[in-house]
Amino acid sequence: MDLENMYENMGVDREVFSYGQRIEAELRERFAAIDETAEYNQLKVLGAMQRNRVSEACLGSSSGYGYNDIGRDTLEKVYAEVFHAEAGLVRPQITCGTHALALALSANLRPGDELLAISGRPYDTLEEVIGIRPGNGSLAEYGVTYRQVDLLADSSFDFEGIRAAINEHTKMAHIQRSKGYQTRRTLSVQEIGEAIAFVKSIKPDIICMVDNCYGEFVERIEPGDIGADLTVGSLIKNPGGGLAPTGGYIVGKEEYVENCAYRLTSPGLGREVGASLGLMPSFYQGFFLAPTVTAGALKGAIFAANLYERLGFAVLPDGKESRHDIIQAITFGTPEGVIEFCRGIQAAAPVDSYVTPEPWAMPGYDSDVIMAAGAFVQGSSIELSADGPIRPPYAVYFQGGLTWEHAKFGILLSLQKLKDKGLATLP
Ligand SMILES: *Cc1c(COP(=O)(O)O)cnc(C)c1O
Repeated sequence: MDLENMYENMGVDREVFSYGQRIEAELRERFAAIDETAEYNQLKVLGAMQRNRVSEACLGSSSGYGYNDIGRDTLEKVYAEVFHAEAGLVRPQITCGTHALALALSANLRPGDELLAISGRPYDTLEEVIGIRPGNGSLAEYGVTYRQVDLLADSSFDFEGIRAAINEHTKMAHIQRSKGYQTRRTLSVQEIGEAIAFVKSIKPDIICMVDNCYGEFVERIEPGDIGADLTVGSLIKNPGGGLAPTGGYIVGKEEYVENCAYRLTSPGLGREVGASLGLMPSFYQGFFLAPTVTAGALKGAIFAANLYERLGFAVLPDGKESRHDIIQAITFGTPEGVIEFCRGIQAAAPVDSYVTPEPWAMPGYDSDVIMAAGAFVQGSSIELSADGPIRPPYAVYFQGGLTWEHAKFGILLSLQKLKDKGLATLP
């Protein structure tokens, strides 16, 4: 059976398949550049594993207090080296990205200090952490104040606004690389570096923290390479490579990471405790695979942008833009478009492919949301996944794909669903 028949058997008709082949052919050069970045980052990760003498013993497990866990301690050194940092905290006890960010903030801020967000409103879940929306145990409850400088209309940093906002209480700066659920541009590591240098030129002791979620391994440099004091992210996104079943990471200056360890466990205990519970093989192997997994997801995002842009839908980033994270937004303009797209992604999944996603009233959102995720790891968004609030402009946010081949299939199946419902017309 040839490839075309194989796709047909899996529910993608000849017209959709050949349209996809045409788009893919046009992206050959871009995909080659992505492969080269993956190659570069593969060597970076491998080199860090070799220099830190990762051994078979590192793949063992610890229980209870987890004293002297060589696997955990070595993994943290590997992460620190890859992210150009002095130290790292990489643990299953960090439950998700929000937890890692909350930890980095609460561990390094004290009553009377001020947090300054310089890339505008932080990711939704951080609003309760900071106290922008009332949150139980928020920074605001502990007497930490907050200020925000929005990005300019072209999504660049507002340097004059930042200068005006810095005062004697400013202790930390928050910078978010990815756009989250906003319609701004994702920031490049280079421009984040310029903003950090600017902040430091005004007040050198401000701790600059970068929310690196979805950005890892998209470029050859990471925030630590350009002066970030703390870089933070989730292991069920890029750096877990799809294999880490839970966890978060914080890397950065020794002193600030140590503060995080005392906050995560307890004053007096810090990094010394924390059992690895048999997860080291998946953490190491996932990190080893992360550069190529991220490359596959990135190709999927670019493929989707070009496929849908050509059909007249608004896409962000557009088909040509340079990429700094793996998120793709597609605006369908109708609830049906969002729903059919998500149904196609779900139907393409290795797990729960037979389930039909429906919009529902998810806690914390002001409209119904539809989600497609047939993942090996619950909620993992490095795996092929999509979600969209059922409200104007009716956009979906799409990301992941553990392999490019799977991402491609999911995107083609989404288009098939739209075509079948008469919501998209192929050229
Ligand atoms: C996903 C994400 C978070 C939060 O991570 P969770 O693991 O969902 O808690 C924070 N910031 C950004 C930019 C994200 O994409």
